[in-house]
Amino acid sequence: MKTYNIALLKGDGIGPEIVDSAVRVLECVGKKLNIKFNFTPYLIGGIAIDETGKPLPEETVEGCLASDSVLLGAVGGPKWDTLPGNIRPEKALLGIRSAMGLFTNLRPAKLYPALKGECPLREDIVANGFDIMIVRELTGGIYFGERGYREGKYGEEAYDTESYSRMEIERIARVAYETARKRNKKLISIDKANVLETSRLWRKIVHELASEYPDVEVADMLVDNAAMQLVRNPSQFDVIVTSNMFGDILSDEASQITGSIGMLPSASLSDNTRGLYEPIHGSAPDIAGQNKANPIATILSGAMMMLYSFNEVEASDLIVNAVDKVLEKGYRTADLAHGAPALTTSEITDKIIEAIANND
Ligand code: NAD
Repeated sequence: MKTYNIALLKGDGIGPEIVDSAVRVLECVGKKLNIKFNFTPYLIGGIAIDETGKPLPEETVEGCLASDSVLLGAVGGPKWDTLPGNIRPEKALLGIRSAMGLFTNLRPAKLYPALKGECPLREDIVANGFDIMIVRELTGGIYFGERGYREGKYGEEAYDTESYSRMEIERIARVAYETARKRNKKLISIDKANVLETSRLWRKIVHELASEYPDVEVADMLVDNAAMQLVRNPSQFDVIVTSNMFGDILSDEASQITGSIGMLPSASLSDNTRGLYEPIHGSAPDIAGQNKANPIATILSGAMMMLYSFNEVEASDLIVNAVDKVLEKGYRTADLAHGAPALTTSEITDKIIEAIANND
């Protein structure tokens, strides 16, 4: 029997509830397809600060590096908001990404036919739906550049710098070309090459690689235009590749136009098969512990793990199809029910498990 060891980082707020849902779904899939999952929980975020004084204990890093892949809930909450920056729960996210060498972030933004009404854009704009995959560089650029405070011409000033090496751009561009190959073979590289040197190098290297992927159509777009095009005509995008900060902002915009952050998974990948899979939303402290959270983003993160870490295509398809079926039947958690009777976290998980078990 195939066995995968999965580290669970449940974290804070709704993290434990939604990770437990994903675990139940994976166990059901495992039973059906004869795959064994060993789940081992580790501390991260606020709960790790409470129990060990650190947002990312060494044991957690070691456990993740010893696992085949990692499933994360979310970290943070008001309890830890006043702590200094270096021991804030969110610090653990940068730390684990860097320890695992996760230089790629895949963020799908898909408008589900059953959830078209959630989209804040005009009906005619999204008549054809959209299904975008954002490939974001995750360990370079301005979030990791030299920074500090100094005395400037006008007194105290702060600075952050962005640099990108050829190696960093090449490896993320290759992931993007490969991803485009598996989809509709359309890649848009987003930069600010009219202003930034890093963007000019980015653009040059993306085009140098194009000859190795003649089947993929590649084009450039400036980031300000991209922000506009995402709300003007989102269906023009298939795969997007961009830098860390632009990807951070554009992927949030893309998720917003799907209208449902509780539905969106993400994958962070390294140059080996071990990845970190997590919903794009935060720890939702306002509904934590109430069995109200939508677990689908985390369940779909589990499906992405099956596909991108383990190449278990059937397992991934089973989960994705079950989610589609449950939505088509009209089942909703409170975030999507608009005041109508809603299912709890555990009830919608049961429905998804039922759909998988019955081959619905
Ligand atoms: P959030 O995503 O946690 O919540 C925003 C709103 O969306 C809230 O009203 C929440 O109830 C709702 N929501 C989010 N996920 C939901 C789900 N699965 N089902 C139903 N409703 C859901 O963002 P926030 O309120 O800005 O942040 C709360 C905490 O989460 C903060 O401490 C923040 O730092 C942290 N955070 C963590 C991550 C992460 O762990 N990756 C990401 C973003 C924010």
